[in-house]
Amino acid sequence: MNVTPFWLAGRAATGDGELTVEHPYDGRVVGTVSVPTPGQVEEALAAAHAVRAEAAALPVHVRAEALAHVSRRLAERSEEIAKLITAENGKPLMWARIEVKRAISTFRFAAEEARRWSPTTQRLDTEEGGVGRMAYITRVPKGPVLGISPFNFPLNLTAHKVAPAIAVGAPIVVKPAPATPLSALLLGELLAETDLPAGMFSVLPVPNDRAGALVEDPRLPIVSFTGSVPVGWSINDQVPRKHVTLELGGNGAAVVLPDADLDWAASRIGLFSNYQAGQSCIAVQRVYVHRAVYDEFVPKLVETVDGLVTGDPWDDKTQVGPLVSQDAAERVESWVGEAVESGAKILAGGTREGAAYAPTVLADVPADAKVAREEVFGPVLLVQPVDGVDEAFERVNDSTFGLQAGVFTRNLDIAFRAHRELQVGGVIIGDVPSYRADQMPYGGVKDSGVGREGLRSAMADYTEEKIMVLTGL
Ligand code: NAD
Repeated sequence: MNVTPFWLAGRAATGDGELTVEHPYDGRVVGTVSVPTPGQVEEALAAAHAVRAEAAALPVHVRAEALAHVSRRLAERSEEIAKLITAENGKPLMWARIEVKRAISTFRFAAEEARRWSPTTQRLDTEEGGVGRMAYITRVPKGPVLGISPFNFPLNLTAHKVAPAIAVGAPIVVKPAPATPLSALLLGELLAETDLPAGMFSVLPVPNDRAGALVEDPRLPIVSFTGSVPVGWSINDQVPRKHVTLELGGNGAAVVLPDADLDWAASRIGLFSNYQAGQSCIAVQRVYVHRAVYDEFVPKLVETVDGLVTGDPWDDKTQVGPLVSQDAAERVESWVGEAVESGAKILAGGTREGAAYAPTVLADVPADAKVAREEVFGPVLLVQPVDGVDEAFERVNDSTFGLQAGVFTRNLDIAFRAHRELQVGGVIIGDVPSYRADQMPYGGVKDSGVGREGLRSAMADYTEEKIMVLTGL
């Protein structure tokens, strides 16, 4: 098997070590990736640092065209790239194809936003001392970005770090997840086809024990991290003076109220507690159903979950594939087992075969069970009756996480109340918390992180305002 090179300051390179990538469904080797030496990492960081002024001064049409090029090339090679994602991550092809579509949009939005990214002005004659003066305000890159991405959306979550960096003219160094480096490296290949200056991007598949050195390097003043809660917050502690964005985990909740369309709610919650085998930070893990419709809703939910097509991720019809590893599936199995021992009832699923865990619905789960309190990151849903909106919102908020929440209602008052009261970064009315459009601001509160992604938000994050006051106007 050919060894996939990494990207060092815009060119393909090989180092002195190799990383093997295995397919989670059957364990076969799907790729071998070259690992950079410490000297090559040093070269990439020095290049990012050296090119920062040139990158910031790049004309917008050059940045926007590079972004549009990547978007077009992703579209041209979409089926091949979807298969690469399935190979390394194990997600069913249907979800891999959606991920590629989203990455195409992410780069397209970035190209559009780069063109809209204009200086602003502010009049200063609102006070006597400002008469004859005006402020001219630009946003300048804070410096090269370190983008650290997780295994679960290996292409699109890398795109969410790379595209805004290029849009604002900031060099970027990507460190992909060791289990899934192939799609990030492919993104490097598409970036290398553009006219961006060498040094503006590197993709460095270094192992985790070498990632700390990247985090601490002063030449990378921005750290944009997507991944687990403990690693994310430890990075924040490690470099308190850097600008750190953390997109971390969650135990997403949905609320179903009596005025909801119950068929729609059951079909969406049933699917989105299991998409990507539950390995999404905004998968539905908890659902609180108004007691008035609980008995009607639960059989619909169980029917949806039992009807999901599980199995081989290469089959076009498969909706739920394996988890990323057998270890991950065994962890989910042990958490469910622990809940059942403390009184939980299994309404669907509850079985494991290798790395695959069956789509599972649990009722009567004690509030302190791991499946209730922690992020399961597997295809497990807890369903619980509540007496009304007060109790539902209290339970949603009874979590250390706060990424997004979904509220199935058609009542506008309740919608605005949810927006006011739920302690999350986003409230989705009429749908699951798992809804994300790539241009919208996205991120969490509490343990789920700090800062926002989404093109405009990330572009603001990577830059700071710089003003010039004009006098004598
Ligand atoms: P992870 O924290 O294990 O790894 C994420 C990235 O951090 C990987 O690239 C990994 O190699 C790197 N890393 C590990 N140790 C490091 C260290 N000490 N210093 C620097 N980097 C280090 O997470 P994962 O298992 O790949 O992803 C799953 C987690 O990501 C879940 O908790 C999920 O909820 C979260 N996630 C969050 C979002 C979001 O947008 N909020 C999106 C997807 C996934």
